Amino acid sequence: MITRAQIDELADHKPGAYPVTSVYLDTDSRRHTGGEYSKVLESLLIAKKVEVEQSEYSKDQQRWILQDFAKIQEFVTSKSRNETRRGLAVFSSAAAGLWQALPLPRAIPTQVIVDDVPYARPLLVLFDEFERFCAVVVDRRRGRIFDIFMGEIQEIGDIEDDVPKKTRGTGHLLKAETAVTRHIGEQWRAHYKNVADYALSAFRRQPFDRLVVGGPASDLSDFEKTLHSSLQQKIAGRISVQVGVESTPAEVLRQTREIEQALARDREFRLIESLLTQAHSGKLGTVGLADSLKALRGGQVHTLVLKDGLRVEGVFCSSCRFIGLGERECPTCSKPTRTTSDVVDLAVAEAMLQGCEVRHVFEASALDSVGSVGALLRFRA
Ligand SMILES: [Zn+2]
Repeated sequence: MITRAQIDELADHKPGAYPVTSVYLDTDSRRHTGGEYSKVLESLLIAKKVEVEQSEYSKDQQRWILQDFAKIQEFVTSKSRNETRRGLAVFSSAAAGLWQALPLPRAIPTQVIVDDVPYARPLLVLFDEFERFCAVVVDRRRGRIFDIFMGEIQEIGDIEDDVPKKTRGTGHLLKAETAVTRHIGEQWRAHYKNVADYALSAFRRQPFDRLVVGGPASDLSDFEKTLHSSLQQKIAGRISVQVGVESTPAEVLRQTREIEQALARDREFRLIESLLTQAHSGKLGTVGLADSLKALRGGQVHTLVLKDGLRVEGVFCSSCRFIGLGERECPTCSKPTRTTSDVVDLAVAEAMLQGCEVRHVFEASALDSVGSVGALLRFRA
């Protein structure tokens, strides 16, 4: 699972004597079967190698870069052909001791970048599309805490407190029993407090957007009241899970994803509504691929919104980054354009390069009738 620390390592990487190779690879099995993406990478790296050899990098730097290329290619080739994740990001600078390979739940346009620092921006844009969840599953003696992000789950805490079983007494023992019961009551309250404190410290180490809680329904409201108020505000729902069975993590993930998907559908609906309102009133929105590309070229895009899986043929200029639909000659630099089977991929890469937000939509909506793509704008030209 991708952690904040990994992203920070990339974002904080200081430019040094040796460049970093960043690779994004679309491994989506709906588009590539049987590890075909490894071949795609191979041809990209061969082309990039020529560029590097003609660049101003010193011979020593070039040697290190080519070593990074070889290491990345070897890693990708050795990956399972049954890869289920849809994307992969790899960052390597062997000379600087940097290596990160991150499987991604959604493809980022395939590209190879050699630069002084890791090209982490697409990753940050992708991260923005997902919410990080924390799930806390409790009963009166145990609490398990899970971190859930981009379709993966990791257990980050398991707290057991020794609460004695309720004693059964009759008659003259009644008074003592009341005392014991009160004592037990205090103990499970103390246990809840331990779990709540742990959740808070987990939040401070690695902030999450939403919290879900699970356990015996009768106890959950007591537990929720124990949580720090900043965590109470993050509660997105309850899940019905037992704390101590083997399937607990898988079940926590499944039920949390249901909550996540319902929230995402709601967010998607509101985003499209706002986009169409802005576009139809001639304000800060535009729809359709031609106009969205125009806005992208003008640096106007705040958020690019597109239907997941959308592919459209088009053209691009390899010398000035122009992206268009049918221009034979680049309107910016007059060079002949090249055709591509998917201009949408280039548009997403360009949006990420510009630091725009990118939102994929999954449900059928009114966006479908306007070309399945649009953009919220920062300003109108
Ligand atoms: Zn051009």
